[in-house]
Amino acid sequence: MNAPHVAWPAITTPAAHFIGNRWQASASGAEWPMVDPSDGAPFATIARGGDADVDAAVRAARSARDGVWGALAPAERGRLLGTWSRAILDRAEELALIEARDCGKPLQQARVDVAACARYFEFYGGAGDKLHGATIPYPEGFAVLTWREPHGVTGHVIPWNYPLQIFGRSVGAALAAGNACVVKPAEDACLSLLRLCELAAAVGLPAGALNVVTGLGPEAGAALVRHPDVAHISFTGSPATGAWVAAAAAQRHCPVTLELGGKSPQIVFADADIEAGLPAWVNAIVQNAGQTCSAGSRLLVEQSRYEEVLERLGQRFAALVAGPALADLDCGPLIRDSQRQRVRGFLDAARRDGIATAAQGSVVADAPAGGFYVAPTLLRDVPADHTLMRDEVFGPVLSALPFADEADAIRLANATDFGLVAGVWTRDGARQLRMARAVRSGQVFVNNYGAGGGVELPFGGVGHSGHGREKGFEALYGFTTLKTVVLRHG
Ligand code: NAD
Repeated sequence: MNAPHVAWPAITTPAAHFIGNRWQASASGAEWPMVDPSDGAPFATIARGGDADVDAAVRAARSARDGVWGALAPAERGRLLGTWSRAILDRAEELALIEARDCGKPLQQARVDVAACARYFEFYGGAGDKLHGATIPYPEGFAVLTWREPHGVTGHVIPWNYPLQIFGRSVGAALAAGNACVVKPAEDACLSLLRLCELAAAVGLPAGALNVVTGLGPEAGAALVRHPDVAHISFTGSPATGAWVAAAAAQRHCPVTLELGGKSPQIVFADADIEAGLPAWVNAIVQNAGQTCSAGSRLLVEQSRYEEVLERLGQRFAALVAGPALADLDCGPLIRDSQRQRVRGFLDAARRDGIATAAQGSVVADAPAGGFYVAPTLLRDVPADHTLMRDEVFGPVLSALPFADEADAIRLANATDFGLVAGVWTRDGARQLRMARAVRSGQVFVNNYGAGGGVELPFGGVGHSGHGREKGFEALYGFTTLKTVVLRHG
């Protein structure tokens, strides 16, 4: 089954936290097993951190911020991020293999994630010394200027679906802006990030600028959110946890950026280039087995071409195959058994409510029995108020529904609590702009769909998809606070 020439690399990072450029075991001595989603077997161990470990990491960050790291010129910080980026590319294959095994994602997708991670450090390495302030006209005798200052110690809670990419976009921007970071990666997948820490130390990132405390959300994660010396929290994860994080941070008036889930629509008008759209619609739901916040999980098609689109898309779905990460098929396994049960629950609800399956792919015959596989599934005529159209499945399940006209398309597109990404497919230029304005969403793609890509493109949601923006230059503003200085010079 697996490519014969590829073997999993040994996990060389210890079951320890990365604090002040050193490995430190948990104060409690507790550890946590890492499970390979492709076969369900444990293959490594991480440290299970708590309050004491988070406190040590925040102290290390504080002293870096007040010391060597804080004293570096922005251009010097940027150069270090650029060197780190190149070190990541030098280790690209090893990092991709670690990520593929840890997340269960097809190796080719993991390679894309490594390249994106390196690109974040390249982009932010070049941007941090361009964070200009402003001068503001004021009455005669005054000079007014604004400075963008780092928050200080920033906390980063990272999910398991794209550890490398989300680490790169969040930590890259925070470090470039001059913050010192404490990261709590997901307990399901974090080994690539520990390897990144080693590379950071090797390229000379000063001790304490980056610290990683591994462990469980309600333990290490909650300790980070509550810590009084963490001045900003960047959280990526589920809407429910995001609400808890925001409420906890509000107790001490700590600003948060929330990157939460999505229920993103592909809106296909009758004049669309269907041929160009088909691969994009498949990829948008199959990539990372649908465990993508920006997955295109709703397909809305103008009535006159609905059957044709379902027919042609169905042929593609029927040919999709899920299998182990190393087999590098269309889909890997889901991250864990509970996630698979959750996705199966949605498919059970579809059967129970008489929703028809338009097409279904398969799981490769010799997939390990212990892996967490789900066959990619295309559902048709899913009612707009059904849980499959409203709630995030986070699996390879695409729900289709026809619409009557533009007004109906807008109504359906906006009929969820989420608003992260939307795809609009039409050749009509005026309609492209009308739709881009009317859809309630943080990003709108017209005749393409590439939410995961585009390091330069501000990304984030409205409603239950969260608030604040990551990626692009916009993220740098989020990782700074603006100070206004008013000088009276007579
Ligand atoms: P989750 O919210 O349970 O976990 C995400 C992270 O939060 C993990 O590191 C976890 O350990 C941590 N966490 C859990 N409880 C915590 C607490 N009480 N305090 C602090 N941290 C805590 O999410 P999940 O179910 O593991 O991940 C999938 C969800 O994340 C999906 O809903 C998906 O849409 C969302 N997501 C969003 C984006 C985005 O950019 N918008 C990206 C990836 C994932």
